[in-house]
Amino acid sequence: MALQRPLVIDYSPPMRYEGKLYRPPSEGDSYILQATIGCSWNHCTYCDMYREKEFRVRSLEESLEDLELAEATYGASIDKVFVADGDALILPVEHWLAILERCHALFPRLRRVSCYAMASNVLEKTPEELQTLREAGLSLLYIGPESGDDPTLKKIAKGSSHADHVLAAQRAHAAGMKISAIFLLGAGGTERSVAHARESARLATAMDPEFLAALTLTVIPGTPHARLEEKGRFTLPSVAELLAELRTFIAESAPTDAIFRTNHASNHLALEGRLPADRDRIVATIDQALAGKIALRPEGYRGL
Ligand code: SF4
Repeated sequence: MALQRPLVIDYSPPMRYEGKLYRPPSEGDSYILQATIGCSWNHCTYCDMYREKEFRVRSLEESLEDLELAEATYGASIDKVFVADGDALILPVEHWLAILERCHALFPRLRRVSCYAMASNVLEKTPEELQTLREAGLSLLYIGPESGDDPTLKKIAKGSSHADHVLAAQRAHAAGMKISAIFLLGAGGTERSVAHARESARLATAMDPEFLAALTLTVIPGTPHARLEEKGRFTLPSVAELLAELRTFIAESAPTDAIFRTNHASNHLALEGRLPADRDRIVATIDQALAGKIALRPEGYRGL
């Protein structure tokens, strides 16, 4: 079988994008359709991704034109579409269905359509609507609870609780969608570090995602989180404490079978494996890093 060349998307014109684009690492070779601009919530204290954007839904006509443009530029090579920006599941069902139908008509090799979603986006749709979207091809939701610890969720203004995330995951799974759940090391600060790690593991278990990722919090100047830090109301855990959080998170998470990664540039240690199958190996690697036997990613090479 001939090897298929990976799709390299060029995001410069003629592609039409507004502001900075963000997508999960695993969508690096996906076509990104920017069907919404910004994030409808835009309150999470640590996030500066869409602060310069006022949230709006792009017109359906524009989004469908973009898909035609992508087909004209990349032809049939597109096999994955990621719908941006920050919480694109918020799009009305009719809008989604038109996009999904056009994606399938234009890209014969299409095997996945995905988007970021907040728990509230999932819960605002009925189980029947979620099922309809899944049947039309929306197959993967990236949901970032960041923490399973309710006091931490409140402090970072996530807008949804531990229980909301469990229910959202149950509804998405019941509709046949896969979930990629993202947690944020350091989100609880030194104050909630242990509780954040333990409750995040408990939430990861309850959400039972197919994909699980841990990122590391970076306090970005100008965000509400930076102001909390300036006022002494938040202290980022040390690198050793962040690794200890990661260790607890891995040791106590018990999804059915999740692909786990810490390959995001924000992390000090790149790990991957399946949970729970590779748990002991991953924990042993973290222990080696804690003992100074494995080099960590230098600060200058870490990114957002
Ligand atoms: S929901 Fe996501 S994109 Fe929106 S403010 Fe929170 S972290 Fe940022």
